[in-house]
Amino acid sequence: MSRWDYDVAVIGGGVVGCAAARELSRYELSVCLLEKTEDVCSGTSKANSAIVHAGFDAVPGTRKAEFNVKGNEMMGDLAKDLDIPFKRNGSLVLCFAEEDRDGLQMLYDRGIANGVKDLKILEKNQVLELEPHVSDQVVAALYAPTGGIVCPFELTIAMAENACENGVEFKRNTGVRSIEKLEDGYRLVTESGELTAHYVVNAAGVYSDEIHNMVSEKKLHNTPRKGDYCLLDQAAGGYVSHTIFQLPGKYGKGILVSPTIHGNLLLGPTAVDVEDKENTATTAKELSDVISKSAVSVKGIPYNQVITSFSGVRAHEDGDDFVIGEAEDAEGFFDAAGIESPGLTSAPAIGVYLAEQIAAKASAERKKNFISTRKGIPRLNHMSFEERAELIRKRPEYGTIVCRCEGISEGEIMDAVHRPVGAVSMDGVKRRTRQGMGRCQGGFCTPKAMEIIARELGCAMEDICKNQPGSELLVKNGGMEA
Ligand SMILES: Cc1cc2nc3c(=O)[nH]c(=O)nc-3n(C[C@H](O)[C@H](O)[C@H](O)COP(=O)(O)OP(=O)(O)OC[C@H]3O[C@@H](n4cnc5c(N)ncnc54)[C@H](O)[C@@H]3O)c2cc1C
Repeated sequence: MSRWDYDVAVIGGGVVGCAAARELSRYELSVCLLEKTEDVCSGTSKANSAIVHAGFDAVPGTRKAEFNVKGNEMMGDLAKDLDIPFKRNGSLVLCFAEEDRDGLQMLYDRGIANGVKDLKILEKNQVLELEPHVSDQVVAALYAPTGGIVCPFELTIAMAENACENGVEFKRNTGVRSIEKLEDGYRLVTESGELTAHYVVNAAGVYSDEIHNMVSEKKLHNTPRKGDYCLLDQAAGGYVSHTIFQLPGKYGKGILVSPTIHGNLLLGPTAVDVEDKENTATTAKELSDVISKSAVSVKGIPYNQVITSFSGVRAHEDGDDFVIGEAEDAEGFFDAAGIESPGLTSAPAIGVYLAEQIAAKASAERKKNFISTRKGIPRLNHMSFEERAELIRKRPEYGTIVCRCEGISEGEIMDAVHRPVGAVSMDGVKRRTRQGMGRCQGGFCTPKAMEIIARELGCAMEDICKNQPGSELLVKNGGMEA
């Protein structure tokens, strides 16, 4: 019988925590994942550019460079194993002035030093041949065919589901309030009780500095750096086929124009330091920057097709690099802190690294019965007519379309609720199925989806939240005193 409740406690259910949990579940270790909100993928991992970066941007020798390239290389097989969409659509970094060519060359050299394959500098005519809507002002571009696009929700949730199937316990609504160092392990005080663990993984995103500082004297500090986006309808999704960057500046990679894996067009992000780690409010000024700067890269963007805007917050650590590995003065406490961009790309490789470190320390064997694959929710709109008919014969719920914009059926919503680490909120269903993500943004299908979710969860419609408690969509008694 172990002295600890768990061998490993992972703090944070973003893409990094879920990757670490999945990789840890390959070993004979008891693992729990503690997430303060009602669901996984509800922090930075839900609001980013969704680019699988090639790896030419990070300074050679940094953790960012190392994990970016490794994560990029892993993504193809991982997507197949987890049945999630991923495409190497390639990326272009545009240069608009002859005197900026040095900047492009520097990125090329960095990419080569980082081990990025197949990089090329293209001249204006070659760029316009690849992407006819790129601005005529372009002079040259860095082309990285290994760059890709992924769905950040599906990546994170698929890793969580697979980790759960392999024995990881997911404890949601379980924020860690404090951590006490024991002689040979840690006691974690959470919003729903205490637990002990021999090892801890800190994957708390923008809060990773605060979690680290609970056990270490070598303090970290994250600056929340917000980025706003505009998302355009699928009608505009084919406007460009590559991810179009501008030469990066002090605050990052600048405004991009990119197709998403689900066929929308994404413009953004800005980069503005904010005080509040929860500040995900878009502003008119930032959105107008997104519009004006995206127009520099690509001509004639159909801005009248914007269907929504959103923002995400980067965890920018003062050291300007990922902090990954065992804390110097806290044995058994492993950080994945300050994971800003390219964190989504890097997460699978960070997960492998942390799991290997912990397994070696714990002398844990690999499991013989690890399930490496996972099957996603059947996607009606990816099926042939015959496949649909067959599915509907077996599961008639798949014959009722709820979200007409995205073609999402009642069956998909029901499955989202009942899968491992299933959805418990409207946002949870949306991220697992895309219900409400189309042109009408849930304007038509929300009531029907709520009805199904309430029925499947066995609760009243008034109890259904958008995300966390307090975000109920309906008001009891119509909000009036009886
Ligand atoms: C604008 C923007 C654009 C980006 N674009 C890209 C891109 O294109 N490609 C790329 O590779 N990367 C990109 N990134 C970076 C990437 O999104 C992040 O690096 C990644 O999502 C971080 O994942 P995470 O798991 O560390 O953090 P999160 O996803 O934030 O997860 C941390 C989790 O920890 C939980 N938590 C916090 N405190 C506690 C606590 N006390 N107890 C329990 N749980 C807690 C949170 O609720 C959260 O769910 C971008 C980021 C931003 C903001």
